[in-house]
Amino acid sequence: MKIAKDMVVEMHYTLTDPAGEVIDTSREDGGEPLAFLCGYQNIIPGLENALMGLEKGAKLVVNVEPADGYGVYDETLTHTVERSAVELDDDLETGMGLVMMTQHGPIEVVVKDFNDETVTLDLNHPLAGMALSFDVEIMNVRGASEEELSHGHVHQPGHHHH
Ligand code: ZN
Repeated sequence: MKIAKDMVVEMHYTLTDPAGEVIDTSREDGGEPLAFLCGYQNIIPGLENALMGLEKGAKLVVNVEPADGYGVYDETLTHTVERSAVELDDDLETGMGLVMMTQHGPIEVVVKDFNDETVTLDLNHPLAGMALSFDVEIMNVRGASEEELSHGHVHQPGHHHH
């Protein structure tokens, strides 16, 4: 079976930054492959597009530019809030990640700057602006179930996320 829209893909991957540092991997001890439903924006477009037409067993390295990954870095995507609006158990540090609740659900933000009164949050994705390299092995390709297609994501035994 070839990877195409409406197919479920299971793959191992190792994501590295331009310096070769590992950012994320599915290949840690006992790690299960990442499963995603193709054609539903479950993964970044630059990676998904490169996998189209591949079959089980394929191995490749996919290089993704920021625009096809987590976006280019947007200097205007910062937000300054009252320091009292940030609830923390630990001391604030520049560069630390926080989860902020918004009307669209939780988003991950990074502390860009702070003083006694305010905190400036960076709303860019932590990987925005970064060229990414994925070392990928396709472990399985299968058709999606009706339920998976209607939900727009994969249902794995014991791993039913919503
Ligand atoms: Zn579901």
